[in-house]
Amino acid sequence: MAIDYLRLSLTDRCNLNCVYCTPRERQDFLSHDDLLRHEELVRAAASFVRLGVRKIRLTGGEPLLKKNLPGLVKMLRGISGLRELALTTNGILLKDLAVPLREAGLDRVNVSLDSLEPAVFRKITGSPALEDSWDGLMAALRAGFSEVKLNMVVMRGLNDGEVAEFARLALDFPLSVRFIEFFPTNERSSGLKGALVPNSETKKRVEAVYGPLRELPPGPSDGPARVFTRAGAKGKIGFISGRSDNFCGACGRIRMDSIGRVYPCLFSAPTHSLRELLRSGAPDAALDEYLGGAFKVKPRHGKESEYAGDIEMSGRGG
Ligand code: SAM
Repeated sequence: MAIDYLRLSLTDRCNLNCVYCTPRERQDFLSHDDLLRHEELVRAAASFVRLGVRKIRLTGGEPLLKKNLPGLVKMLRGISGLRELALTTNGILLKDLAVPLREAGLDRVNVSLDSLEPAVFRKITGSPALEDSWDGLMAALRAGFSEVKLNMVVMRGLNDGEVAEFARLALDFPLSVRFIEFFPTNERSSGLKGALVPNSETKKRVEAVYGPLRELPPGPSDGPARVFTRAGAKGKIGFISGRSDNFCGACGRIRMDSIGRVYPCLFSAPTHSLRELLRSGAPDAALDEYLGGAFKVKPRHGKESEYAGDIEMSGRGG
């Protein structure tokens, strides 16, 4: 599988503190000077594209916290050979940014939202900002993106009772609602014992309320999701089963964090770091040659990843 999809983390900071994601209650954030600046991010992204990347997803931390994100999107859009530019966000700041981001050339948006119950939302995220996240999602639907997805991480005893309600959103709105299996990534999330709900169970719960779902042929933006629909639905329902399935063989992803460290697999330690080269004024050819090394060491099976200890999902972008 060719590597054609870069997940680009813009910051390790987030305005939420989700129980399954951030490793500690309080984080020591990277210093502002360490973070790659817009020009550096664009030079790095262009090198990824010259090496075969065709789709970039902006993530974080919370990518909407990055200063002048529409400006960055516009610069990234200028990279020749890049086919698609997408964003994953918790939606809290999206209400005012959806239109500027669309106008700057952003193609798609994924909003991560795990509960529609204020008390549960607060329990998961440590924040009362459910309404802002919802408003952000609605603003994205209005802004004319080619697709808006809603990602829900399903956790037993926390939000699994809301699965049918989330599925209902795909009936009423032109949304792709996707159920994601929780996976432990660090000491804090490992404490959520028994939280994993296999997607086979989530699908049964959805079907118990809405009747049988019809599977759709895999689409270009589905990634590892299996996607379904139902008669009369405006949207779709997808299942991403990272725990029950192993889709490493079909993974074309590579990741870079906000200080330029490159991860050939979500679960591996960084193998390369671009910041020094970027800051030393190295020419494009030197950048490409060095970065090409990371493309060659991508594990083909999860078991091949060198265990990196606690995974800073909040830093490397999920
Ligand atoms: N702040 C942005 C957001 O909320 O989408 C982008 C970063 S967040 C790390 C990206 C995605 O990773 C989110 O959809 C989040 O739910 C997912 N994620 C983080 N930790 C996870 C875990 N332990 N299991 C499953 N998904 C996880």
